[in-house]
Amino acid sequence: MRILVLSDIHANLEALEACLEAAPEHDRVFNLGDIVGYGANPNEVTERSRALGSVFVRGNHDKASTGLIPVDDFNPVAALAVIWTRENLTPENLDFLRDMPQGPIIPVDNLQCVHGSPRDEDEYVLTAREAWSILAQASVPVTFFGHTHIQGAYWIDDRNEREGVVDPDYTSARGKQRFTLSLNETGKYLVNPGSIGQPRDGDPRAAFVVYDTKAKEVTFHRVPYNIEHAQRKILSAGLPDRLATRLSEGR
Ligand code: ZN
Repeated sequence: MRILVLSDIHANLEALEACLEAAPEHDRVFNLGDIVGYGANPNEVTERSRALGSVFVRGNHDKASTGLIPVDDFNPVAALAVIWTRENLTPENLDFLRDMPQGPIIPVDNLQCVHGSPRDEDEYVLTAREAWSILAQASVPVTFFGHTHIQGAYWIDDRNEREGVVDPDYTSARGKQRFTLSLNETGKYLVNPGSIGQPRDGDPRAAFVVYDTKAKEVTFHRVPYNIEHAQRKILSAGLPDRLATRLSEGR
């Protein structure tokens, strides 16, 4: 089975459409949350995600935009985007986002999906040390996570003796790129597909992964999209300027 894993789309329709067009053939779609927040197309992106996906976990922006958590925990720019999103979502999309389940979700054997981490849906896994401590306790060999908007993977062996970090090694910073990681039978992996709608790893291209469960391969992808178009829509929606400018920096 080939699984398309999407995360942190953040209401960026241009980036989502570019990724779907570039994605190789797949059997299922798993969505790791933060469907909305920051971008100018929360309804279109929610509807497209609903039509695609069978597996969802909720993100902190999905929770805040639907009133499940207060906006107090967000920085001022993110909070403005949360409030704008809440005011612009249709009742049907608000209901869908509010009902998305909390991770971890185990949709198929030996694989779990979370937004932040398996121990806390809002945790940012940003260091190898944090990742390895989570992996040492992981009950399944493969965990997909999002939330940090940074594409890559961490692994440990089954004896918790050897560990490593995988930073996709693309041949070019331009155009569509892919990088395949072969999973070791005895390893445990934390895999972040990166963010579709607001990458923060210095590469402005939209990010996703495809996991081939039979070949035991995770392929990381980067896809250019019409950033200027997404930026113009953010500005004309009256959302904070920073949400537009950061898209071209990938930060
Ligand atoms: Zn996010």
